[in-house]
Order: sequence, then C-alpha cells, then structure tokens
Amino acid sequence: ATPTALLVGTGRGAQLGILIKGPEVLESTRRVDVVVLDKTGTVTTGAMALAETVVATGVDRAELLRLAGALESASEHPVARAITAGAAAEVGALPSPSSFVNVAGHGVRGEVEGRSVVVGRPGLVGDGPADELRDDALAAAWREAASQGRTAVVVGWDGAARGVLVVADEVKPTSAAAVRELRDLGLRPVLLTGDARAVAERVAAEVGIDPADVLADVLPEDKVAAVRRLQDEGHAVAMVGDGVNDAAALAQADLGLAMGTGTDVAIEASDLTLVRGDLRAAADAVRLARRTLGTIR
Ligand code: ADP
Ligand code: MG
Repeated sequence: ATPTALLVGTGRGAQLGILIKGPEVLESTRRVDVVVLDKTGTVTTGAMALAETVVATGVDRAELLRLAGALESASEHPVARAITAGAAAEVGALPSPSSFVNVAGHGVRGEVEGRSVVVGRPGLVGDGPADELRDDALAAAWREAASQGRTAVVVGWDGAARGVLVVADEVKPTSAAAVRELRDLGLRPVLLTGDARAVAERVAAEVGIDPADVLADVLPEDKVAAVRRLQDEGHAVAMVGDGVNDAAALAQADLGLAMGTGTDVAIEASDLTLVRGDLRAAADAVRLARRTLGTIR
C-alpha cells in the first residue's frame, strides 16, 4: 500500500474509535486468523459487585467482611474493588492492612488486626482446594457460583477457610455481536482467563465461543505461553486485553489490542487501542485493514 493509503486508513481508524500506533500495524491486522480474548474487563464489563457473602459455621459475617474488605483495599483488581466496596457498604469504615502481598492470578495475603488473612482462589489457605471447601455451606456456595458463571473467592485467616465471597460481573451487551462479527471475518475466537473453567465456559456460551476454545485457570505468566503456543501452531494471533496481567501476552501477539477503558500498561504494550472499550471495534479494525490494504495491492 502507498503511504497515503496507510495514512488514510489510520485516520479512518481514529474516526471509528481505533487508535493505531503506526501505519505498519494495518498489515498485521489484516493477517490475523485467531483472536484471543481476555475475559474480565474485555468480554465482561469488569465492573464487578459483591453479590453474596457466605460464612462457615461459627464465623461472624461482619468480621469476615471487615477483614476481607480491609485486605482488598490495598489491591486494584476488579474482584478486590468489588469486595472492598461491598464490605464498606455493609460494615462501614474498614481498617488498613498492616502488611499486604499480591499473589498474581491467585489473590491477596496480608495482616489485618493481627490476623493473617487471605482472599483468593482456593489453594491460598490450608492444604489445598479440597481441604478449604470442606465446610458444607462454603462448598455449596462455591458450586452454585460456578454454575451461574460467577466468580467466587475464599476468605481465610489463621490457616482456615472462613467464608466464600461471590462477585458478579456481566458480559458487555456488545460482546456476543462482536464475536459473531469476528467469526464472520474468518477469525477463530479463543477465551483466555485466570478465572475458573466453569465460570469461563458460562461466559463463552453467552457470547458464542466454543468450549474447546476456552483456556481457563491460566496464570498471568502463562498467558504469554498460551499465545506463543497458538503461534507455534502456525496462527497469526491477535490478543485483546485490558489488564496489567495481559501486557506480556499483548506484546507477544502478532497484534495486540487494548481496551481504551483498561490499564495504561496494557495500552502501552499494544499496537492498537479500542477507545470505547467495545469489542466490536476489533472487527472494525480487521475490516479497515483489509479494505485499506486490499484496494491498493
Ligand atoms: P482474568 O484473567 O480473568 O483477568 P486474573 O488473572 O486477574 O483474571 O485473576 C484470576 C483469578 O484470581 C480471579 O478470577 C480471582 O479468582 C483471583 N484473584 C486475583 N486477584 C484477586 C484479588 N485481589 N482478590 C481475590 N481474588 C483474586
Ligand atoms: Mg482482564
């Protein structure tokens, strides 16, 4: 394509709410055949809310919310923000944690009011997932959340699981249409997430992604490997993400697309920014690249 055509293409992109880093990006956009979609904040709104609080036998609900909410106030994760806001709404002012460690892709750990508190995926407390969810009420809450496609996390302190918090996130109203458009353009959509398989499969079903194309329980550092594996199979891979956790995978992909509503780190690692955070703009970008390059060659 001529430089003029490429400039016109990038200018047209800006009108569509697609910021393109450089004219050469249009070429990789045209070539992609697999599009990897991060779940939280990309396919879903990422605006999570605390939907349910379930405590183990003998645990005080207000204490559980105070400790979990306090610990999560130190984290920026969407799950953490939902828990802190929900806890504060119910129990009022929260103490500050005296120490805090973020365990990427798993949860948080720290000291609140002299207790060692954890909030996150099963496995952070006690001797592993099975051990943690031994309490009947917690196990039932866990199963029910998964069947509804909701994210559940375990709250524990001093070595035992004390409760389960369920946070609800919603699929963006435009995500299903976006997946359909991407498929119509000949791209294969893949869902990639650190969340549990049952949750991921529910979201996939809602937007029309094949269960075989759901990559769940993927730790942040393994998201890059997931992209590389698809590339090794001969695919030109686009990755769409919004989080700090997605940055390395966005950089590894043949084409990185960041949600404009996402973190600066994700935007910096990407070739293209979807300003409005609407996944349909990913399909617009592919159409634009094909039109811009197709008419000139
Ligand atoms: P995603 O890939 O969907 O953006 P992440 O990799 O950020 O998700 O997190 C994966 C999972 O780890 C979350 O679904 C949640 O269960 C758990 N998790 C991560 N951070 C936190 C936190 N601050 N508090 C509780 N749970 C967390
Ligand atoms: Mg995300």
